[in-house]
Amino acid sequence: MPSPILRFAPSPNGHLHLGHAYSALFTDFWAQRLGGTFLLRLEDIDPARCRPEFADAIYEDLHWLGLGWPEPVMVQSERIPAYLAAADRLRALGLLYPCFCSRSEVAEQAIGTDPDGAPLYGGTCRHLTEREATDRLAHGEAAQYRLRTDAALALTGPISFTVAGPTPLDRPQIRYARPERWGDVVIQRKDVPASYHLSVVVDDAAQEITHVTRGVDMEAATDIHVLLQMLLGLGQPIYTFHKLILDADGKKLSKSKGSRTLRSLRESGWTAERVRTEVGF
Ligand SMILES: [Zn+2]
Repeated sequence: MPSPILRFAPSPNGHLHLGHAYSALFTDFWAQRLGGTFLLRLEDIDPARCRPEFADAIYEDLHWLGLGWPEPVMVQSERIPAYLAAADRLRALGLLYPCFCSRSEVAEQAIGTDPDGAPLYGGTCRHLTEREATDRLAHGEAAQYRLRTDAALALTGPISFTVAGPTPLDRPQIRYARPERWGDVVIQRKDVPASYHLSVVVDDAAQEITHVTRGVDMEAATDIHVLLQMLLGLGQPIYTFHKLILDADGKKLSKSKGSRTLRSLRESGWTAERVRTEVGF
């Protein structure tokens, strides 16, 4: 058995809040329990939203919570060549196609919703001839690249993965992945040559992550991740899904809704110990 390696992978697009503190402490708890290593990774490939000062604040807030990790920290914006290579591998398998649709076109042509409630892509650009697609690209039209999910599944056959936890008393379970419910997902965005789905599996493999701890809001997306791992010949980690910390209205905390940040709590006198107690660690 390889030595357990776990990671906490926030995006520097805002300040951390209690939900992040819970996720980081949960990951650290499992790393300690397994006798493994806790790594930090910065998921900063979204240039429109990520800022260096938020990255600095993440280090500061996590250190304040009492967490530590080996250096250097993996930073996604430095990993573009690895994502391009992985996308090329999928392309060589005939599994990617360019999609020129705008967000509103995707919404208009949706054939339902995906597990996150977003419009399910209707597959318009799947049917473009190679000539049409090449012409549009040659004319400088921006394209995102989507996965032919049904063709991918025809290659891999049924896929399963192991779910452990969320408590050490829970028996591990084998779960079947159903990536088809996501339709033809975006693998390379128009603005960045990777999507979250692609970068997360490439990075988890590069960091030799053995146990992925993530919120239950990421449970369904794991189906796509295990499919990509199979297609790219990457190892498959064990997955543990943790609860989300909710606000007073029962909604998920989020940076965009201005949930109270760790630094604002700290400024109002909270200690790291109080944060730990508040989220149950
Ligand atoms: Zn399209």
